[in-house]
Amino acid sequence: MKDSELIKKAKRARERAYAPYSKFKVGAALLAKSGKIYTGANVENATFGLTVCAERVAIFRAITNGEKYFVKIAVVVDKDEPVTPCGACRQVLSEFASNLKIICANLEGKTERYSLSELLPEAFEKFDKDPSTD
Ligand SMILES: [Zn+2]
Repeated sequence: MKDSELIKKAKRARERAYAPYSKFKVGAALLAKSGKIYTGANVENATFGLTVCAERVAIFRAITNGEKYFVKIAVVVDKDEPVTPCGACRQVLSEFASNLKIICANLEGKTERYSLSELLPEAFEKFDKDPSTD
């Protein structure tokens, strides 16, 4: 799967964002190792604190559809510069894919690429992250 295809899916997902308060729409498309793509868009709430980012919507959809392993995620915004996932999303993504590739893009096609371990070094991990206890 080419990055450009994943970006296109994230762009399309962005159109479904619910962002009446910030007007800052974000779309994400997450590629699972299975080859399936799970998209998400930010969903805001009048309380603000209950808002969920596009990246977390995408990974929660994937997890609840039985996926566990991931390759890369594209995140698209309408800004002059691409935007990286927030700290909360970095931590949630690292639970499942500490070396996830992250492609940040804007609507004009400008892209920046990172690895999750680069954006979230020394991520919090469960103390019992021994595979035999999972
Ligand atoms: Zn976030």
